[in-house]
Amino acid sequence: MADPSSELLSRLNGVRKTGPGRWVACCPAHEDRTPSLSIRQVDDGRILIHDFGGCGVEDVLAAVGLEVKDLFPPRDPPPGGFRPRQGIPETRARELIALAAREATICAIVAGDVLEGRGTSVADCQRARQAVEVIEGIAREVRHVASHR
Ligand SMILES: [Zn+2]
Repeated sequence: MADPSSELLSRLNGVRKTGPGRWVACCPAHEDRTPSLSIRQVDDGRILIHDFGGCGVEDVLAAVGLEVKDLFPPRDPPPGGFRPRQGIPETRARELIALAAREATICAIVAGDVLEGRGTSVADCQRARQAVEVIEGIAREVRHVASHR
């Protein structure tokens, strides 16, 4: 579904454009002779609808065979929420997860030393900082793959 507004508008009757990203249409969920459904597409691509006849958003959408999620533009997976089968080979994903877990453990060990008063060397602190950089690098790799599908 490329554009959620065209998908919705193509299923409605009496559609009239009233401005940039704004339309009115007859509400499909009640007997509507004068268009009382207001449709608005906001900057991030989401569709907002309001029926002045009083029908709920879900009822309006159900009447044309859509769901609330259909009002949102298609998106890349959220950062960190990558799905290996859709971009990163599973073996690489496993490597990245194992690496991130190891680096996080290093941070936890250094933090534990500080908390328990065992004293921490400059080298340990630098290693912890490096661990954060490694994790950030993993996040970048995942985002890069996600945004180049
Ligand atoms: Zn209605």
